Amino acid sequence: MRSHKLLMIPGPIEFDPAVLAALGAPTTSHMDADFIEAFGESLEMMRQVFLAPHGQPFILAGSGTLAMDAVAANMVEAGDNVLLINTGFFSERFGEILRRYGADLYQLQSPIGGRPSLEEIETALRKRETKLLVITQVDTSTGVLTDVRSVAELAHHYGALIVVDGVCSVGAEELRMEEWGIDVALTASQKAIGVPPGLALWVVSPQAIERFKQRKSPVMNYYSDWNNWLPVMLSHEERKPSYFCTPAVNLVWALHVSLKQILTEGMEARFQRHTVLSKTFKAAIKAWELDQVPLKDEFAAHTLTAVRYPAGVQGSALLAEVAKRDIVISGGLHPQIKTQYFRVGHMGTTTIGDVMATISAIEQGLIACGYPIQPGVGLAAAQAAQL
Ligand code: PMP
Repeated sequence: MRSHKLLMIPGPIEFDPAVLAALGAPTTSHMDADFIEAFGESLEMMRQVFLAPHGQPFILAGSGTLAMDAVAANMVEAGDNVLLINTGFFSERFGEILRRYGADLYQLQSPIGGRPSLEEIETALRKRETKLLVITQVDTSTGVLTDVRSVAELAHHYGALIVVDGVCSVGAEELRMEEWGIDVALTASQKAIGVPPGLALWVVSPQAIERFKQRKSPVMNYYSDWNNWLPVMLSHEERKPSYFCTPAVNLVWALHVSLKQILTEGMEARFQRHTVLSKTFKAAIKAWELDQVPLKDEFAAHTLTAVRYPAGVQGSALLAEVAKRDIVISGGLHPQIKTQYFRVGHMGTTTIGDVMATISAIEQGLIACGYPIQPGVGLAAAQAAQL
């Protein structure tokens, strides 16, 4: 018997034993040559994971929200025009953070499960000179995937820099930072990066670093100020010690292990594997005739699936039935529909076997909750989707 239930929520995820071993190893000095090497190599590997050969990577202790806060603090000056593509709870949060730093924020929103069209985005960009365009690649509250590549093209056409919240996408969804012209992509350790919660990670394009250097006002956040962190990142890459704040030493060791695993798999294979995991899980949802929160198939993320409960099924009862079968899935998060749907994460270390086991547990759970489906119908559809 395994000592824990399989964690199939959209972050934190199941972690690889080698990553957990690094976390539990004796802590080294942050000035130790081996640690500086691991930190430097991790920065170099981040460039490969983000597909940003000329980007400037940052590794800080903190969660995804710290990454958002740091990017806003450093990229925004009071009065800057910022366009936010709002696809759910986490875009909403980004909006709040951007306003804190004085952004003059303009938001584009669609009904829950939708995403603003390229035409709407272009109209907004045409109307208002925009300094920064901010987009969430996958909003974990709705499972909506945005078309980052096309939006980035528009941003560049209209002279805006583009920031991508990739907390629920980097390392799993296709994101080609340099090729697509992304200026900042940020994430956190606990999702597709495969390291327990605690690291905020982001990469900045050379143009965005240049823009940062031309700031007229000081950064209104001491901990996150890139003036404090840039020298630390640069010196670690030169394998020289440098201190601003004590790094999360064991988490960085764990990151070093995980990034190596990610690159051993290879980014193209990883994008492809996540497509298959997602297709497999969503085939079962369709076989059960359940609706997803994203309003169209092409709006649906590959890192998680957000599913509406069928009429008559109590959310808490279904989640409890699934947990009885040793699998943990997640309830809703978007405040307006919180009790109406559940979420299943399938990213990072998730295997096709994990997805099949989860489908089986949900199928049994639905039946136990009185939803009239044939046992095995979801599993059969999921198997067929892999052929
Ligand atoms: N953005 C997205 C898309 C997220 O999914 C999350 C976390 N689920 C965050 C930001 C915030 O990250 P954290 O909880 O690590 O602060």
